[in-house]
Amino acid sequence: MRLVLLGPPGAGKGTQASAIIEKYNIPHISTGDILRSNIKEGTDLGKKAKAYMDKGQLVPDELVVSIVKDRLLEDDCKNGFLLDGFPRTVNQAEALDEELANMKLKLDHVINIEVESSELIKRAIGRRICKECGATYHIEFNPPKKEGKCDICDGELYQRDDDTEETVSRRIEVYLKETSPLIDYYTKKGIIFSVDGKQSIGGVFKDIVKSLG
Ligand SMILES: [Zn+2]
Repeated sequence: MRLVLLGPPGAGKGTQASAIIEKYNIPHISTGDILRSNIKEGTDLGKKAKAYMDKGQLVPDELVVSIVKDRLLEDDCKNGFLLDGFPRTVNQAEALDEELANMKLKLDHVINIEVESSELIKRAIGRRICKECGATYHIEFNPPKKEGKCDICDGELYQRDDDTEETVSRRIEVYLKETSPLIDYYTKKGIIFSVDGKQSIGGVFKDIVKSLG
C-alpha cells in the first residue's frame, strides 16, 4: 500500500498516521523527520538542506525529492509506505510519480483529511499544555479537572505562543493555498479520498480503512 496523507495542521494527521502504519505494516515517512535526522547526522543532504534553512529559505524541491527517493529505496518500503508532509506542491508530486515510475511503482491512494478552518482554529486556541509533563488538554473538548492544572502531575497549564487565532488562521491559509493545486492533481488521477476529519479519532480511521478497500 503506497499512500500519501494530506491534511491541514491540527487535523489529527499524526494520530491517523500511527494507526495506518500499524494496520498496514508500512513505514511512516515524514520528510520533516528525515530532514531533521539528516541534519543531525551531518550527511551531505543534511548539510545542503541546513544551508537553506539557516537562511530562512525553503529547501528546494530537487533536494527534498532526492531525500525521499533515497528513503523509498530502503528495504522496509518494499510493501509500501505512508508519505506525510510530502509532496507539498504539484512539482514535487510530479517528481514523485516519476521516481516511482522508475522503480516500476505508482501511488495507490491519497488520503485527504478535511476539517473546516473554523473548527481547526477552535481546536488550536483551546489547547493547553502541562509545563511539567507535556500532557495536552483542551478547555472545551478535554478540560482538566481543576482549571489551569494538570490532572496527572498538578503542573501549570499554558497556551503555546503560536496557538493564537491569528497565527493559526495564517498557518491554515498557507496550507490551503499550497495544497489546493495538489488536491486537483490527485483528483484528476482519481486516487484521492477525502475523509471528514471532524469526527472522532476512531470515526476518521474507520473511514480511512473503508476508503482503502
Ligand atoms: Zn502534567
